[in-house]
Amino acid sequence: MDVYDAKQPQTCLICGFTIDHNKQGRFTSHLKNEHNFTNVKKRIINALLATT
Ligand SMILES: [Zn+2]
Repeated sequence: MDVYDAKQPQTCLICGFTIDHNKQGRFTSHLKNEHNFTNVKKRIINALLATT
């Protein structure tokens, strides 16, 4: 199982937006606000993140 690591900077693979604050809720909000995602699940978030 992939483990979400909130300690690492994350980059959105859709638009390249990098999240420095490392909070999952922040990235979820990014997906909802910028990409119109709804009901974003953790495994989907993981698939859309590139750990830098
Ligand atoms: Zn994005």
